[in-house]
Amino acid sequence: MPTTRDYYAILGLPHNATDEQLKKAYRKMAMEYHPDRNGSPGADERFKEINEAYEVLSDAQKRAYYDRTGRAPGNGGDSMGFDNFEFGGLGDIFEAFFGGATSGSQRRSPHKGQDIGFRVSLTFEEAYTGASREVEISRVELCSICKGTGSRPGTNPEKCPDCNGAGQVRRTQQSIFGRFVQTATCPACSGKGTVIKSPCAQCRGQGRERIKRKLAVNIPAGVDEESQMRMQHEGEAGHYGGSPGDLFLRFDIKPHKFFIRSHSDLVMALPLNFAQAALGCTLDVPTMEGVFSLKVPAGTHHGKVFRIKERGFYRLNSRGRGDQLVIIKLITPEKLDQRQRQLLEELSASLPKSAEYARPGEDLLQHLG
Ligand SMILES: [Zn+2]
Ligand SMILES: [Zn+2]
Repeated sequence: MPTTRDYYAILGLPHNATDEQLKKAYRKMAMEYHPDRNGSPGADERFKEINEAYEVLSDAQKRAYYDRTGRAPGNGGDSMGFDNFEFGGLGDIFEAFFGGATSGSQRRSPHKGQDIGFRVSLTFEEAYTGASREVEISRVELCSICKGTGSRPGTNPEKCPDCNGAGQVRRTQQSIFGRFVQTATCPACSGKGTVIKSPCAQCRGQGRERIKRKLAVNIPAGVDEESQMRMQHEGEAGHYGGSPGDLFLRFDIKPHKFFIRSHSDLVMALPLNFAQAALGCTLDVPTMEGVFSLKVPAGTHHGKVFRIKERGFYRLNSRGRGDQLVIIKLITPEKLDQRQRQLLEELSASLPKSAEYARPGEDLLQHLG
């Protein structure tokens, strides 16, 4: 929507007004209609208009365009109105003149302390059974002597004389448009509103100190290297009365001599010679909880997997536990004595030869790597 407003009339200026006159008129009217100072109905709208007019006329190019066409220049050509002109945008123009106010009180609100991460080394067995540990962490706590006030015991922080406890100071600034009041964080107390006259010797007035702390930790059975154990409020001290952060434990787990872990299952390889695999056998297989008598049937192939139920890891976030998987690894003897060779030759002569060729299956292809 093309604007038909007369920007010169809005600012009460002749069409040949100089930049100096323009600034002067803007300053006077912006101050008069600023919504913070003028609560009368329509002042908002008027303030918008004034800013809009100034925004165009103070820019040589925009002003030339406006003088030529009677319209405000827009991004997409000459039809842009100011209907979408956001108030925040106009505020920016105003602040560019008079200086922005900075908020200073945010830092005084209570907020949570920092979280801490800590890694605990565990043996494979400890991850399986769970473990009680004492961990020593270094964290920032409220000072043990002054309890966080920063003042020597028996004294108290005093109201900051610079800001009278407000944490903010009002500064009067001289600008080309006259004096202007600005609010800023009090530099004397950094916004706290208090100053420490006699600082605590322990923390030098900081109210906080770094401390090495030993914590007893019960690590549940079944943790792995992806597990994260949260200990609420064992992180660093909060600020301005906020709660402490949390401590997050993660685990480095040493590998086992012959077990590996797959989720909650334990996996091991069981070496068998050809005779055991062909004839079948019963073997005592190690588990994490003593031996298990595993029956290997006659005619067992390399790579066959036996599942021993519920001998795996406990599941951390659900009930029950995993299994132990036993993978058969067929061992071909590389050295034979005379007697063994003779027996195998007799065996070989009795076994069928050259079965039909067939495409290799997945069991063989996996050896290609
Ligand atoms: Zn202290
Ligand atoms: Zn202060």
